Amino acid sequence: MWPKTTVFGQNTRTFFLTLLLYLTPFLVVYYRKRSFGEHLFFEPSAAIPLTPEMYTLSQARAIYDLPVTTLLLRAQEAHHRHQDPAGIQLGTLKSIKTGACPEDCAYCPQSTHNKTFVEAEALMETDSILADARKARETGASRFCMGAAWRCVRDGRQFDSVLATVHGVKALGLEVCCTLGMLTDTQARRLKEAGCDIYNHNLDTSREFYSKIITTRTYDDRLTTLQNVRSAGMEICSGGILGMGESVEDRLKMLLELANLTPQPESVPINALIAVKGTPLEDRGFVDSIEFVRIIATARILMPRAMVRLSAGRAQMSLELQTLCFAAGANSIFLGEKLLTTGNNSAEQDLAMLGELGLHPVSPAEARSFHSATAIAHDNAHDDCGMPYFTESGTWARACKEGTEKECLAV
Ligand code: SF4
Repeated sequence: MWPKTTVFGQNTRTFFLTLLLYLTPFLVVYYRKRSFGEHLFFEPSAAIPLTPEMYTLSQARAIYDLPVTTLLLRAQEAHHRHQDPAGIQLGTLKSIKTGACPEDCAYCPQSTHNKTFVEAEALMETDSILADARKARETGASRFCMGAAWRCVRDGRQFDSVLATVHGVKALGLEVCCTLGMLTDTQARRLKEAGCDIYNHNLDTSREFYSKIITTRTYDDRLTTLQNVRSAGMEICSGGILGMGESVEDRLKMLLELANLTPQPESVPINALIAVKGTPLEDRGFVDSIEFVRIIATARILMPRAMVRLSAGRAQMSLELQTLCFAAGANSIFLGEKLLTTGNNSAEQDLAMLGELGLHPVSPAEARSFHSATAIAHDNAHDDCGMPYFTESGTWARACKEGTEKECLAV
């Protein structure tokens, strides 16, 4: 029998029941933390909202340091929720003006400060670039990226020629990306008007480590160019290079710079340093594989809607490492035997790899429509089973929402 006495003016039984009700959530938290540890209690989908807040280094570090099994699970959750989980975007990167760059990027074989195998070549004519773009399209690329080894774009005949080329590539039905160095606001607008969809400008590394790699322009110069790109209405492609001697913290800070942009970059290339003879970094060993995979997974979790691109250094990776990177959330690669000046796998090898892994090419337009549809599709299409699932043909659950009556296979 409950005593009839009162506590704070309430019946004792009512008081204790109410107290228990209030304490239940805290007891659950306490129990789960004790039972499973912090890492299993971490809920990225809840902790990492789509409208990004300013992520902190300790948040990024907590993700990066998760047991690798949990890290991959969390990255996969983000990947399945926001991306076509089997889709890989294929781009081709072409150097349209090679070498003789006045910048002193320590990793780059195209810098005049570095004595490397690269021989300077003038800006290519529009017609020959268009011929390469056609070949890239036939090979299966849906995006054509053009790189010029310039410190910055200069107005005049050469820029006009690039604008004409951009226009021509766009007319081939390819998405156009350029990487031409620093851009002013007006130049960014002209590129956009010519048909350029995306502009690549990598942050490379953290603000702190940056001066050990480049001294001829500042970190803020890079951020200003990204701002100009965004204001002109182009998508941002920006990422970094791992293995230059930076710490894990530097890598995470670089990801944070990108993840804390509003909106976040649409593409995030993650490169492994290729130590080119004649550069100050020529003696650096290849980045640790597991650290590389952890950064890919962290990027996927922090920027769930970005295309995370395996870029330079992929030719040096085993099939197993690339597979692990895809499992960690990478969903874009460059096709073609050359990445600007360094080697890459052949398109045939890469297409065979995708086939072996059961992955398929996805165009940027498909990826975009997927990004805008997935949040709704995920919320609406999974009501029945509460799990992500594929249709029998392997396509994503969007098909269910569109009314095809295919039975879904839970995964
Ligand atoms: S700006 Fe680009 S091309 Fe020039 S040295 Fe740096 S990375 Fe190389």
